[in-house]
Amino acid sequence: MSQPISDAFWMPFTANRDFKQAPRMIKSASGMMLTTNDGREVIDATAGLWCVNAGHGRREIADAVHEQLMTLDYSSIFNFAHDLGFAYAERLVEHTPTGLDHVFFANSGSEAVDTALKIAMQYWNARGEGQRKRFISRQKGYHGVNFGGVAMSGLTNNHQPFGQWLMVDHLRHTLDIERNAFSQGLPRYGAEWADELEELLEFHGAETVAAVIIEPIVGAGGVIPPPEGYLAKIRAICDKYSVLLIFDEVITGWGRAGSAFAAVEFGVTPDMITSAKGITNASVPLSAVFVNDEIYQRCMQGAKSAVELYHGYTYSCHPVACAAGMATLDIYEKEGLLTRASEPGGIGEYWQRALHSLADIEQVIDVRNYGLMGAIQLRGDGTKGGQVMQQLWESGVMVRGLGDSIAMSPPLIVEEPHIDLIVKKVRKVLHESL
Ligand code: PMP
Repeated sequence: MSQPISDAFWMPFTANRDFKQAPRMIKSASGMMLTTNDGREVIDATAGLWCVNAGHGRREIADAVHEQLMTLDYSSIFNFAHDLGFAYAERLVEHTPTGLDHVFFANSGSEAVDTALKIAMQYWNARGEGQRKRFISRQKGYHGVNFGGVAMSGLTNNHQPFGQWLMVDHLRHTLDIERNAFSQGLPRYGAEWADELEELLEFHGAETVAAVIIEPIVGAGGVIPPPEGYLAKIRAICDKYSVLLIFDEVITGWGRAGSAFAAVEFGVTPDMITSAKGITNASVPLSAVFVNDEIYQRCMQGAKSAVELYHGYTYSCHPVACAAGMATLDIYEKEGLLTRASEPGGIGEYWQRALHSLADIEQVIDVRNYGLMGAIQLRGDGTKGGQVMQQLWESGVMVRGLGDSIAMSPPLIVEEPHIDLIVKKVRKVLHESL
């Protein structure tokens, strides 16, 4: 029997009043498929919230979690530890870009972002440059919902009511449909927007700026791959002015962009990476900040107190999350999922062709993609994405509506027939909703 939909549950990031009139309820999930309360099969074209990279219902993870709960269900991680934490940290940094060899654990993408911002501040404190308190982020960037993250947020609704706590400037986003519409992979135009960073650093004085934080591929802001050369330029400017660069890879990490991290994929190495979601295949909350040796060593050596960073969470390095993460890494490695999206002639190319086949539909004004991410931009008044999301849900596909676009990021286990089905249904719904 289904539970009544009540106001006891205040749903996050949801139009509660609308939703509760017409709820979309999911009962179970396996592989690429979701089953609704009323027994319909829906294909998961979003991997949950860009996070179930190895597909749903992975028994290996469930077994590891169960076993860990029965062995060590919890341990304090302040001044105590467990072997699994050290083993897992070693295992994780095998996948990070060269030099990012240290990991600080948290529980969500939002916590990872706020942790990274605090580490940046602590790094400058340790270097005797504690006046560096400013940050630079980007319009359309999403960096979670905690106070650091909303200050960085480039999404108006998330930022405006709450976001004025830190000193932060926002670089222009790089979405330029006029010049780059229907780019396949990286768009050609727009690297010059990185120059704005140099202007801001000159304007404020780089000696007041702690770090720049950006998503290498914007996710929730509409799937915006970086223009060719843009990230390298950002890196070069950060180097020139000695400002830290943080990549928020909460979405782009763990194979989404065709490599373990977008930083690896694009050959641009930041000083820190935030990671969450796919790190445990979303089975158990866990997030991480990967930090380079310079930051780690400076914080260790320059700390004024025995505790080098007054920061951490009750559940940092939770043993159950570590076990889930280990089992997830086993799957990613065994099934080659971290690089599956970038195999020549492989599923990533198939995905790209399939998405771009929708370009002939009159109301489609842009298609953007990279790795196993994509967005279809529609002509509309800002609400089109939500409408199409609802229609696709009814026709058996879960997508994400973002403004006038729909975003998709299927599990990395997706096969060609799944993609055919998704694209066929999207085409049908777009034709019907003309
Ligand atoms: N950063 C990015 C780039 C994200 O996409 C998200 C979540 N969508 C977050 C941070 C926040 O993660 P969480 O929801 O786990 O707090």
